[in-house]
Amino acid sequence: MVEAECDALPSFLRVLPEFRVILCITHGCCYTRQNLSRHLLEKHRLKRRQRKGIETSSQLNNIATSSNGVVQPLDGTNEICGLPTVPGYLCHLPDCDFRSTNVNQIQKHYNQEHQWKVVHQGLMLWNEAYLQTLFKQRQRQKLFAVVLADKVHQSTNPQ
Ligand SMILES: [Zn+2]
Ligand SMILES: [Zn+2]
Repeated sequence: MVEAECDALPSFLRVLPEFRVILCITHGCCYTRQNLSRHLLEKHRLKRRQRKGIETSSQLNNIATSSNGVVQPLDGTNEICGLPTVPGYLCHLPDCDFRSTNVNQIQKHYNQEHQWKVVHQGLMLWNEAYLQTLFKQRQRQKLFAVVLADKVHQSTNPQ
């Protein structure tokens, strides 16, 4: 058996060691050891042998077993290439980490959680940012603000 061969990951998978997850570029979503196999079976239709090869790859050694072991990216992280990036809104109040990609949701949040409409006559001071999330599933979704990758390379613009 050639070790390098069974250690190689398919090109649609990228290990994100700092967050302890594996990113599927095809589906724009991250996985842990726990749910990667099912994803490879259901969405990529990989054979058992191919899945085993990926699961036993040493590249997955530091990937979290379940979502409890994942390192949540902080606001201000550089945009993670392969994940969708969407404009969104962050609650500006201290000790509140509510964020949403939907303007109606953030308005509702100010009204309901902070009784904002009554106190401040509707002027809402939310922050706007580009957001990403490691996981798509609604209950595991956790948005974080990113620095866009093209901002970093702006100076190389030929114009
Ligand atoms: Zn996938
Ligand atoms: Zn809030």
